[in-house]
Amino acid sequence: MEVKFTPNGEQGKQCRDCKFFEAENANAGIGKCFGNDVPSGGSCNNFVPK
Ligand code: SF4
Repeated sequence: MEVKFTPNGEQGKQCRDCKFFEAENANAGIGKCFGNDVPSGGSCNNFVPK
């Protein structure tokens, strides 16, 4: 499936709220999603709540 990523996710549906997100560097606002760096405020169509 094609991943539609947006750097500005909707409130409550952001990477930081997603079960696939591993907060690696919370201060920088960057975490890992399937091995890729993603901003904690981003979102995509694979979002699954924690
Ligand atoms: S699956 Fe999508 S919403 Fe979830 S952490 Fe990864 S990029 Fe963010």
